[in-house]
Amino acid sequence: MSFLDKFREKVSHFMSGRYGSDQLNLTLVILALVFTLIGSLTGIRMVTTLIADALLVFCFYRMLSKDRVRRAHENTVYLEKTYGVRKAISEWFQRLKNARKYRYFVCPKCKERLRVPRGVGKITITCKKCGEKFDGKA
Ligand SMILES: [Zn+2]
Repeated sequence: MSFLDKFREKVSHFMSGRYGSDQLNLTLVILALVFTLIGSLTGIRMVTTLIADALLVFCFYRMLSKDRVRRAHENTVYLEKTYGVRKAISEWFQRLKNARKYRYFVCPKCKERLRVPRGVGKITITCKKCGEKFDGKA
């Protein structure tokens, strides 16, 4: 058995029965990185380092916790409360990814987001949700 296999087995044994990681922990790590970055770009490093460290300590506490039911409940509540924000971020990345292929419009009547293939020129766009017609250039 190699050193790596022994190490992997020891970590696996240590983590058995513990909660591990989830979406809330990933968010805590990202927030800690953001606070660290803000601290290094501004002069308030002391405060941001303290916040980042507190977030990481909470993250490790959750990862190593054996109260799996409570940690899973925390994650479920987090996912429910942040659904709108996470969906908006996901859609923003999707629009960024498709920016070369599509032009995006917002319906003036119902605010539905619509997409039109780029390069079709001046067109009349019909909202698929409310039927409103408006002009656009894609
Ligand atoms: Zn509409």
